[in-house]
Amino acid sequence: LTARQATQASLDRIAATDPEVGAFTFVNTEAALAAADSIDQRRRDGQPLGALAGVPIAVKDVLCTTDMPTTCSSRMLENHMSPYDATVVARLRAADAVIVGKTNMDEFAMGASTETSAFGKTTNPWNPSLTPGGSSGGAAACVAAGDVPLSLGSDTGGSIRQPAAFCGITGLKPTYGRVSRYGLIAFASSLDQVGPMAFDAVDCATLLNAIAGVDASDSTSLPVETPDFTAGLDRIEGELRIGIVKHHLEAEGLDPEVRQAVDDAIEVFRDAGAKIVEVELPHSDYWVPTYYVIAPSEASSNLSRYDGAHYGHRSPVAASDAGDRGPLVATYCRSRGEAFGAEVKRRIMIGMYALSAGYGDKYYVKALQVRRLIRQDFDSAFQNVDLLLGPVTPTPPFAMGEKIDDPLQMYLCDLFTVGANLAGIPALSMPGGLTSNNLPIGIQLQAPPLQEAKLLQAAAAFQ
Ligand code: GLN
Repeated sequence: LTARQATQASLDRIAATDPEVGAFTFVNTEAALAAADSIDQRRRDGQPLGALAGVPIAVKDVLCTTDMPTTCSSRMLENHMSPYDATVVARLRAADAVIVGKTNMDEFAMGASTETSAFGKTTNPWNPSLTPGGSSGGAAACVAAGDVPLSLGSDTGGSIRQPAAFCGITGLKPTYGRVSRYGLIAFASSLDQVGPMAFDAVDCATLLNAIAGVDASDSTSLPVETPDFTAGLDRIEGELRIGIVKHHLEAEGLDPEVRQAVDDAIEVFRDAGAKIVEVELPHSDYWVPTYYVIAPSEASSNLSRYDGAHYGHRSPVAASDAGDRGPLVATYCRSRGEAFGAEVKRRIMIGMYALSAGYGDKYYVKALQVRRLIRQDFDSAFQNVDLLLGPVTPTPPFAMGEKIDDPLQMYLCDLFTVGANLAGIPALSMPGGLTSNNLPIGIQLQAPPLQEAKLLQAAAAFQ
């Protein structure tokens, strides 16, 4: 198979599926074919090729690319062209992957259904009346639809794992700092992490190899060795101790079929010789409230850069319609008012409130203190177990429109996923069977910092 053939097959599949699925915000047909041709030429010339040579890949539209618009699925960045590539994008190019396009997402990665995109909704390839999850819904759906074997998503509170679960694929949120955030448009900087999405753990490992590693352009990237994540995926070393959190399995709102899938997964590991241990994460009831103070606080600060002046949308009527505010303030207000969607505005307002004078100590500082306790819970749990196993989401994929007018219901989708972001630990979602009406259910594995290899080994063994 040549790179050209693989790329053409991907583009053909996108043309066939994407009118219904809507996974892509941009397809870079010409550039992808040109990149493939140059890879084929270098192969014919006997030159060395990268580990992903000729493999078609899609990247979430939150990652900066010089040859395609980077929009975050927001009117604010409609048609925005970045002058630089994100580090992960540069690494994909260096590995000779062929980037075929950018994928749809919730606006600025805020959401759990990909319904808040300004550029149309993505549907779940398993059933078009359902959401693909979010915010990396496009990145999950394009893999599930067979458009590409690999994609990159980002995960601030579950946005790789939840759509992977809803679309029946595998997705990994690495340890905070394992993968560079340079060129990842910031939502909540202390929580954001880029990660691989693919059919299975082996493919995720291959992609993680290509993107992981220290980067001088990201001060939070960890100066640690990158192991070969594909090594040892055919075996589990030593006795595996798997922790389960009973409190989560008995959580109100956990769908019985999801619970059953988790119980089944526990049995599979038990039968394979793993030791199953009950552990407690005493502060897990505070995960969602803590996340929904910290993430909006950081978002309100990060999104202040969209002021209508530097880049992005500038209101055409602000100057003529300034009134008492004067043209500067009118430009800020109108540009932001016109270009941000409702969920983004909601987050900015929550964040500004939580950070404002008089409330900062009560909400933001308090949330940071609870965050520390949440991390300590994981640290103590991992004294006794290698991995934690549980649900990714409380429910199977839900219908389009079901939660979009009820933010609290949407936020509750993150019940089991935000802990890993608050603690900075790696976590993975893998397919764990189907519901009675044939919809995918995800199983979550979480590991101590930098133990991605363990997650991938366990997931490969399970699959
Ligand atoms: N659903 C969560 C939120 O809306 C997580 C989003 C994400 O991980 N980007 O904030």
